Amino acid sequence: PVVLGIETSCDETGVGIVRGRVLLANAVASSMDEHARFGGVVPEIAARAHLESLTPTIERAVADAGIRLDDLDAVAVTCGPGLAGALMVGVSAAKALAIALQKPLYAVNHLVGHVGADLLRDPDPPRRADPPRGAGLRGVAGDVGELELPTVALLVSGGHTSLLLVRDLLDDVELLGETIDDAAGEAFDKVARLLGLPYPGGPEIDRAAASGDPRAIAFPRGLTRAKDLERHRYDFSFSGLKTSVARWVERREADGGSIPVADVAASFREAVADVLTAKAIAACRDHGVPRLLLGGGVAANARVRGLAAERAAAAGVALRVPPLSLCTDNGAMIASLGAQLVAAGHAPSGFAFGADSTLPVTEVQVR
Ligand code: ATP
Ligand code: MG
Ligand code: FE
Repeated sequence: PVVLGIETSCDETGVGIVRGRVLLANAVASSMDEHARFGGVVPEIAARAHLESLTPTIERAVADAGIRLDDLDAVAVTCGPGLAGALMVGVSAAKALAIALQKPLYAVNHLVGHVGADLLRDPDPPRRADPPRGAGLRGVAGDVGELELPTVALLVSGGHTSLLLVRDLLDDVELLGETIDDAAGEAFDKVARLLGLPYPGGPEIDRAAASGDPRAIAFPRGLTRAKDLERHRYDFSFSGLKTSVARWVERREADGGSIPVADVAASFREAVADVLTAKAIAACRDHGVPRLLLGGGVAANARVRGLAAERAAAAGVALRVPPLSLCTDNGAMIASLGAQLVAAGHAPSGFAFGADSTLPVTEVQVR
């Protein structure tokens, strides 16, 4: 089926079009620059930006795909989780589009969409935006592989840090654990800010860390002590780590010393990558699932990728990292999940659903 997907849960206005598993278009507009001076996404600004960007982004996706709107078999939209006001813009637009075109509408879960992204194959691999990056990663022209289930999925971005066990993409997704405070991407953004690096902080810290010593400073690994593991085996905590970096920088400044930005960045990045990958691999082992999928903007992190590849190889786990344009928020992943629902014969969602900012991951489709 040919499906158009709309994604507006955070600061990306994404519109993607797929034909089954084939990616036809993935148009994304981001309001990231407008949030820069606030050091994080401002919900009201994000919602207004979606309102302005959505129609042109739909037009661009349709043009890129070389289809007419009438060729669509269905429309899919993210209805949660995410920022309520931002979600409402996408949901309203999707309803209007589906009604005008008289096409069925599917309301889907953003987090499960991140997993659905890995089903997509590029019809024209040489044009793939993301070149292969490092061992164990997909992205070689023509080599798309297959998402195999069950899989553990580690989704890490500015808004979520979740570990899922996906047995069936449409019917059986379990939340193994998530952050109990800050998301990992949020921690990158906050630590970058206190090091005087611009927003978004993830790429900046990644760059700075490249020339630093990851063992220079022993920052804490949240929720990894034996006592914490009893209740929080697959949960994450990054706010203590962020505070620890802040205290370290303050102490150094009070002593009149200069801040070794590269060493702080490398040591902080190491702490995040260590916890994320250790818990993800533990989940694979505990559940006897030899597959791990990475998703979300933090999947761009060089150390997260590198350590995940190392530890996955050592544990006999097959690691999958979709191209970065499909890891960050986008509409193609929503279209992909919608296409799976259509293909499996699921009934459409109708028009009575709303936006649900805390939609649980177990609800793949909302009616
Ligand atoms: P959502 O949480 O709804 O997916 P989001 O906008 O936060 O929304 P993304 O756009 O996927 O999610 O990711 C943005 C986050 O990823 C930011 O916090 C950014 O700092 C982080 N990020 C991007 N590149 C890197 C990197 N190389 N290393 C670490 N973090 C990164
Ligand atoms: Mg974003
Ligand atoms: Fe996301």
